[in-house]
Amino acid sequence: MTIKNYINGEFIDPVDGNYIDNFNPSIGEVYGQIPNSSIEDVELAYKAAKEAFPIWSKTTLEERSRILLKVADLITDKLDFLAEAETKDNGKPLSLAKTIDIPRASSNFRFFANAITQFPSEAHESVGLNAMNFTLRHPIGVVGCISPWNLPLYLFTWKIAPAIAAGNCVVAKPSEVTPMTAYLLGEICNEAGLPKGVLNIVHGLGQTTGQAIVEHQSIKAISFTGGTATGAHIARTAAPMFKKLSLELGGKNPNIIFSDADYDEMLATTVKSSFANQGQICLCGSRIFVEETIYEKFKKDFVNKVSKLKVGNPFDADTNLGALVSKPHLEKVKSYIDIAEKEGGKILFGGKKVTVLGSENGYYLQPTVIEIQDNSCKLNQEEIFGPVVTIMPFKTEEEVLEYANDVSYGLSATLWTNNLNRTMRMTQELQAGIVWVNTWLLRDLRTPFGGVKASGVGREGGFEALRFFTEPKNICIKY
Ligand code: NDP
Repeated sequence: MTIKNYINGEFIDPVDGNYIDNFNPSIGEVYGQIPNSSIEDVELAYKAAKEAFPIWSKTTLEERSRILLKVADLITDKLDFLAEAETKDNGKPLSLAKTIDIPRASSNFRFFANAITQFPSEAHESVGLNAMNFTLRHPIGVVGCISPWNLPLYLFTWKIAPAIAAGNCVVAKPSEVTPMTAYLLGEICNEAGLPKGVLNIVHGLGQTTGQAIVEHQSIKAISFTGGTATGAHIARTAAPMFKKLSLELGGKNPNIIFSDADYDEMLATTVKSSFANQGQICLCGSRIFVEETIYEKFKKDFVNKVSKLKVGNPFDADTNLGALVSKPHLEKVKSYIDIAEKEGGKILFGGKKVTVLGSENGYYLQPTVIEIQDNSCKLNQEEIFGPVVTIMPFKTEEEVLEYANDVSYGLSATLWTNNLNRTMRMTQELQAGIVWVNTWLLRDLRTPFGGVKASGVGREGGFEALRFFTEPKNICIKY
C-alpha cells in the first residue's frame, strides 16, 4: 500500500518521487511505502494552506463546527476500519485501538467543534478614563502540527481539530513510523466537505520533512508532541523566528502508593498504568513507589498479575500487550533492561523478547518489573517508553515526595491514598502538569494538558488549545 501526501484536498506523490518503507511491527515486515517528503512538498502544502486561509478564517463558527462534527461522525462510522489500520501500523492491541485511540480521535473533533462555538473573548472597561477595551482572538494563519507514533490518530487530531476550529489552515506531519491513519484522515476530511487546503498532510522523516515545517518562514506556530530532545531542537530552531510554540514532551511519571489506598482498585489500575499500549504512553507511571508496610504484599501481587498478561499478536482478542512500534525502539527498551542488570536492579519479572507463533519477526517484549534501591539510577531518571517499570519502597510522605520530584521530567503523577489531608498536601507539591488521585488516565477534554520542567511548555486541551491557536489583539476605544 502506497501512501501519498494530502495537499489541497488531493492525494499526490512527493515532488522528487522518493518513498520510504512502512513496517508492520507485529510481523516485522514492510507492508507499504510512504512519501519521503522534501522542502518542496512542504512548500506546496504551505501554499495550499495559505490560499485556503482567507476564506476558512472568515467561515462562520457554525459552519466550521458543522464540518468538524461531520469529521467526528465519519471517524465513528469507520471505527473498525481505522482501528485495524492503527493496529497494523503501530502494533497496539486492536482492543485498545477500538476503545481508546479511534473513539478519542472522534471526540477530539467533536469536542473542538463544540468548544469553538463557546470560546469567549474578554472586555475590560477602564473605569474613570472613559475607555473600553475588548480583545479580538484571530486565527494565526498557517500553523504546523507534528505528532508522535504512540497514539497516532489520537494525538494527530488533538492538534489539528483545535487548529482548524480556530480558523487556521494546517500543514501537518504524523510520525513516519505510523502514517496510516493520518493518511486515511485526509479521505475523511474530503468526505466531510472540509474545504481544500484547510488541512494538508505531508509524510516523511522528522529531520527533513518535520524540520522543513519548523524552519518555514511563514508557518507561524508549531504544535509539537514528541521526545524532549526533539522538542529542544525545535525550540532552538523556532524561537529566533518568533514562532508560537507548544511543546508536549517526554515523561518519567511517579506512581505513589500508600497503604490506605483501595488495594484491589489500585493494583488493577497500576497494571494498566504500567503496561497499557506496551508502556508507550507518555502518561504511564513508570516509577512505582510503595509504602514500606505493604511493599512485600504489593510486590507479590503485582508480579503475579503482570505474569498473567498475554503478549501476543495485537489482532488476537485476548492479547494484553502487542508489539513495540519498531525494531530500533525494541532494541532501545531492551538496552535499559541490560543497564538495570549492571546497575544492580533485580528483575522480578520479564526482561526478555517474546517470540509469537506465526509472527516470529514481530517486536515483542515481556512486561518487565524491576526492583531498584535508588531513585537516582538511570532506569528511574531516563524515559524508557516501553513495558518496563521499577518498584521501590518508601517510609514517609517527605521521602516519596523527594523521589517523585527528583527527576528532570514533570508530566504526570499518580497518587493512591484515602487520606484527604495528605492528598491536599502532596498534590500541591508534586511537580507535574497533571496529578491523578486514585485513578489514572481519566481525561476531561476541557482541562489543561501538558507538563512542567523537561516535559514541555504550554498547555493543550479545552480553551487553552484555542488560545494557543489564536492571536489576541486588544482594541482600546476612548469615548
Ligand atoms: P520524536 O521526538 O522522535 O518524534 C515526534 C515527531 O517529531 C515525529 O513526527 C518525528 O518524525 C518528528 N521529528 C523528529 N525530528 C524532527 C525535527 N528535527 N523537526 C521536526 N519534527 C521532527 O518522538 P517519538 O515519535 O519517538 O515519540 C515518543 C516521544 O513522544 C516520547 O518521548 C513521549 O514521551 C513523547 N510523547 C509526549 C506526549 C505528551 O503529551 N507530552 C504524548 C505522547 C508522546 P519521525 O517520526 O518521522 O522521526
